[in-house]
Amino acid sequence: MKVEEMIEAVQRKLGVAVDGRAGPQTWGEIYQRIVGAPGPAPAPAGINAVDVRSEKAIATLLPEVRGYARALVHRAASHDIAVKIISGTRSYAEQNALYARGRTEPGPIVTNARGGHSNHNFGIAFDIGVFEGSRYLGDSPKYQAVGLLGGELGLEWGGNWTDFVDRPHFQLRPAWAEGLSSRELLAELRTRTASHQPVYA
Ligand SMILES: [Zn+2]
Repeated sequence: MKVEEMIEAVQRKLGVAVDGRAGPQTWGEIYQRIVGAPGPAPAPAGINAVDVRSEKAIATLLPEVRGYARALVHRAASHDIAVKIISGTRSYAEQNALYARGRTEPGPIVTNARGGHSNHNFGIAFDIGVFEGSRYLGDSPKYQAVGLLGGELGLEWGGNWTDFVDRPHFQLRPAWAEGLSSRELLAELRTRTASHQPVYA
């Protein structure tokens, strides 16, 4: 058996893209299976504020998540990757307005999630942008690198999702949600929000 065939067989088993080359996504999955998911580390405390644009988005996140977002920006910077947090929490109404785009409103479809069906509706999720100088890079291999850094912090990275790969996306999965599907996670988040229960408890 050739090495490429072995890698392809491993990739099939892991449920990642099968191309016979072990890149960050494959290694990330192998790491998680062998070494184990780090699970949310204690929130990084005393981390300095980052740039103004990022802080605006960070302010919309639950307090438990803010340190992680800042830590990710700092970590990326220490690897010479300029990252900003460009999106944080959206209300159900804002989510519904996004959902309408490309459906009942003009423009392309930008989301498959209605209000209450996006992790962004609960303060646990944020999106990053990679920048080169002031230029925003919508697509860059640097997103993979930042995804790995986020994993080290205990963040869940959308680039590891198999149903819908979302490389700018990060979220802090609550401990009670370990092993839940994304549907189950969202259902519990809606329940907790409706009954004013804390998300991280
Ligand atoms: Zn997102």
